[in-house]
Formats: sequence, C-alpha cells, structure tokens
Amino acid sequence: MNETDYGKSRKRVLSGIQPTGEVHLGNYLGALRQWVHMQDEYECFYSIVDQHAILGEGDPADLPARTLDMAISLLAVGVDPERCTLFVQSDVREHVELAWLFNTVAPVGDLERMTQYKDKSQRYDSTPVGLLNYPVLQAADILIYRADAVPVGEDQRQHLELTRDIARKWNARYGEYFPEPDAIIPEVGRIKGLDGEAKMSKSLGNTVSILADEDEVWGRVRSAVTDPQRVRRDDPGRPEVCNVFTLHKLMTDPSLIPDIEEQCRFGTRGCVDCKRIFAESLSRRFAPFRERAEHLRAHPDEVRDVLEAGAERARAVARETLDEARSRMGLCWRSAL
Ligand code: ATP
Ligand code: MG
Repeated sequence: MNETDYGKSRKRVLSGIQPTGEVHLGNYLGALRQWVHMQDEYECFYSIVDQHAILGEGDPADLPARTLDMAISLLAVGVDPERCTLFVQSDVREHVELAWLFNTVAPVGDLERMTQYKDKSQRYDSTPVGLLNYPVLQAADILIYRADAVPVGEDQRQHLELTRDIARKWNARYGEYFPEPDAIIPEVGRIKGLDGEAKMSKSLGNTVSILADEDEVWGRVRSAVTDPQRVRRDDPGRPEVCNVFTLHKLMTDPSLIPDIEEQCRFGTRGCVDCKRIFAESLSRRFAPFRERAEHLRAHPDEVRDVLEAGAERARAVARETLDEARSRMGLCWRSAL
C-alpha cells in the first residue's frame, strides 16, 4: 500500500485548529472531542493551521512554541498519531497554492458576508486582505485532502458552506473532482465564554484552558458571569439564562444536575458555591489531559517526530490533488504540449 492509498476505503475527514493560544473548553466541546471519536471510523487529517494564525497579533517569535504546544494539547486530549495524520499546515506548502487557484472562483461578495470577517475586521484599523481571504485558504485546507466531512464548531458552519460553494464552482468550470464536504457540528452549539456573552475564543481571553490545574481552573471560573439578575446569595436564580449552568450540564456528573438546578432556582445555593462545584468537575475531567501533556512536554522530540511523519503523509496526498487541479486548469503546460 503506498502513502496515498492509505485508508482510502474509509471516508476522509479534515479539521484544523489555530496555534493562537491555549486549547479551551469551547474548542474541546465544539471540535476536539469529535476529532478524537472520529479516528476509528474515518481516515482523519488534523492540522495545526499556523498560516491562519499569522493573521492575529501574536509575536512571530512565539509562534513556533505555540505550534508545538498546540500539538502537545491535541495529543493530550487523545488525538492519536497511530490512527490519524497530525501535521502543521505550513509544512505542506501545497495548501497555499491551491488557495490561490480557488481565489479565481471564490466570490468576493460571499467572503464579505462572513460573520467572522465582519467581527474580526473591527479589530483592525486597516483590514488585511488575508482576513477576507482566509476562508479560501480554509477551503484549500479541506479540499486538498478531498475530505468528505469536517468536524468543526458551530462558528465555522458558514465557512463550510463557502467551501462547498467553492468546490461546486470549481467543478462546474473544470470538471467534477472535489467533493462537497459535510460539516459535522456537535449539538452543544457555540460555547459562550466565561463572560457569559461572547463566543469562548482564544483571542478574547474569556476561556478556561483544558490543561489548567485546579488552582488555575478556579482562578478562571470564580470570575464567570452567572445570572446577572441574581445579586444576593439567596436571590432565586434562573438556570435557563445562566451560562455556568449550561456548562454544568456539559461537564458535571449528570446525577448532580437536578440538585444544582433546584438550589439555584430556590436560592438555596449561591453562585460562588455553584461555580466551585463546576470548577471541581472541570479539574477532574482535565486531570488525564494534564498528565499526558506533562509527559509530552518532557519529550518534545516525540512530538516533533509525530509532526514530521504527519507532514510527510499529508504532503503525498496534497501533491496528488494539486497536480490534478493544476492540470485541469491548464497550468501543467510542459506535459500538455
Ligand atoms: P481564535 O479566537 O484564534 O479564532 P478559537 O478559539 O476560535 O481561536 P479556532 O482555532 O479558531 O479557535 O477553532 C478551533 C475549533 O474550535 C474550530 O472547529 C471551532 O469551530 C471550534 N470552536 C472555537 N471556539 C468555539 C466555541 N466557543 N464553541 C464551539 N466551538 C468552538
Ligand atoms: Mg476561531
């Protein structure tokens, strides 16, 4: 079996995460938990998308360490290099070239309508064209593996639609070649940050890291916003509007949930105590991740080897797709004449 035949009988999956900071609960519930589960059923390609991260304001001197840290976090939550291909996006240069080819069919109007573009462009005085274009690179990240499915969080639904649209437009012009991948979005939806308002997001700092220890978890969770109408400890609360309660339902032992809900509603347990229980649940759930991350931090060469092997495997597939796309677009002129 050669590299590109590897696992062809299974459906293919591609997903990515930016090395823009620590992996947080939203990433875990929205995407990574699925990444881990899908490894047995699908042929999975998981990418640390550093060429997306350079759009942020991070110091370039920090990016290599962030990239390695991200790999450690992914391996710690259960991404398993024996069952998937884990690689760094910039190690596979073909993505960027395919993105340019897709730029020739991607409609500017659609890009301008993307919610993330509208949100993130407000953070700049002068918006870089890369921010507008980044869903095109994302389409290339996915379609270069001709992926059938993409496990992502709710915030990426719109970008996936665009990827499907780019595939459709390109196929219409150059012949059926790229599949239209399905977004696989978990029911949990968009996880709100600890501010109880914005999406939990690495770049907003309203997160709790999945590698936080007990003290760090409490340090973050104690400031979480609950029901804003609940001022005094014994005021009756409204669990249905409280983000901490929503998170409890996702992370706390289900047998404890009815009591937590009732004690909130009748004001018999204050928000601080409720958050303490939540912090304990998180610390317990995160403990095995922390343990694995500690081992990997002590053995960075193992992580490098994993990424090296992943890049090689990814490159073989990416090259084949790019060659085909180039040829259909009339760019392989030497062999065509
Ligand atoms: P950044 O703020 O730098 O964009 P991020 O926290 O949004 O970082 P990404 O690397 O952009 O993280 O996304 C990684 C994965 O996590 C994606 O599949 C994305 O859909 C998912 N994700 C990110 N934030 C959330 C959230 N709050 N709820 C659910 N899923 C999320
Ligand atoms: Mg994001």
